[in-house]
Amino acid sequence: MDVSAIRQDFPLLDQEVNQHPLVYLDSAATSQKPAQVIDAVNHYYRRDNSNVHRGVHSIGTRATESYEGARKTVQSFINAEHVEEVIFTRGTTASINIVANSYGRANLSTGDEIVITQMEHHSNIIPWQQLAKQTGASLKYVPMQSDGTLTLADVENTITQSTKIVAITHVSNVLGTINPIKEIVKIAHQNGAVVLVDGAQAVPHMKVDVQDLDCDFYAFSGHKMCAPTGIGVLYGKKQLLESMEPVEFGGEMIDFVGLYDSTWKELPWKFEGGTPIIAGAVGLKTAIDYLTDIGFEKITAHEKMLTDYAMEQLSAFDGIDIYGPDHRAGLITFNLTDVHPHDTATVLDAYGIAVRAGHHCAQPLMKWLDVTATARASFYLYNTKDDVDRFINGLQSAKEFFG
Ligand code: PLP
Repeated sequence: MDVSAIRQDFPLLDQEVNQHPLVYLDSAATSQKPAQVIDAVNHYYRRDNSNVHRGVHSIGTRATESYEGARKTVQSFINAEHVEEVIFTRGTTASINIVANSYGRANLSTGDEIVITQMEHHSNIIPWQQLAKQTGASLKYVPMQSDGTLTLADVENTITQSTKIVAITHVSNVLGTINPIKEIVKIAHQNGAVVLVDGAQAVPHMKVDVQDLDCDFYAFSGHKMCAPTGIGVLYGKKQLLESMEPVEFGGEMIDFVGLYDSTWKELPWKFEGGTPIIAGAVGLKTAIDYLTDIGFEKITAHEKMLTDYAMEQLSAFDGIDIYGPDHRAGLITFNLTDVHPHDTATVLDAYGIAVRAGHHCAQPLMKWLDVTATARASFYLYNTKDDVDRFINGLQSAKEFFG
């Protein structure tokens, strides 16, 4: 993979921060955008901008074709069987909330169980806490091993015939744990439960095939995979989505509106109330084309190389706690002994190195790790070994500064 050519595509990377060339190690929070995506959104607003589905004029038709074309791109990208199984949303959070508020409220009641894990992002915890409160269902957690992985035996012991929904992250945004989704789906299905996968940290970095996983719902965000903010996807199996009620009501999603009652459009539009995120979908399509052209095998391998390289150097580093399993996605969450992660991140920032510090929207996981916060460096296709070297040197400086 020609990383220096790739870096040329990302204008934001070519700048100095605090008099140092920027090293961007915060892609797990949001990725940078290639010029191809910025240009596609720009082109859309300059040439094709119109509302979709309603207009008979030519520009309206172009906008509709772009929007619906983006849906087809997503369909083949995640290998959904039907194009109407792809619903555009604001992002992972919105996608999960649709499932909790629609499928969840209609199908759960007292005595039922929702199974999640303690490594979930708040977006895949709170909607289920709310659903449990609203329906009388109980929330259960699959226990974690000390390295932050799950065992299938624990999954089997936690999911029962009373479990109606299993909601689980594909890749942890803190630990980098890659969960065995296919096997978990099998166990859930044997017990009659549906599975929602939070794919926010997986789809940007690895090939995901929803039919192969056989999951019932899959949620992800465009902004973590080179697309603009404000666009995301909810994939759902057609039969399930068809049985579900919309959660947002208004324009675009209706078929017929009477004085006292209304009917909805068919899938996927019944879940897309209001003017949709048209430019976002155009950007997402372009981002998918961009990443697919490079190839996910190469992207995954590149991130693994960088992570292994960083871990190797950190293993020789005194006074650092690193969280998560050996086999991990392209991120490293850590704390320097006796240094607050905000201080670590502030020193790194002084050297132009952007890492994230805080609870990473995973407070229950922080509790499990017995820390209040951590620092996190996350890698993407545009990072280099030089970025890793600068990061390690920056950590050394932080240690000396606070040591
Ligand atoms: N799930 C995981 C694992 C995440 O890392 C994130 C974002 O950090 C989310 C969900 C929420 O994504 P969004 O804020 O794009 O809805």
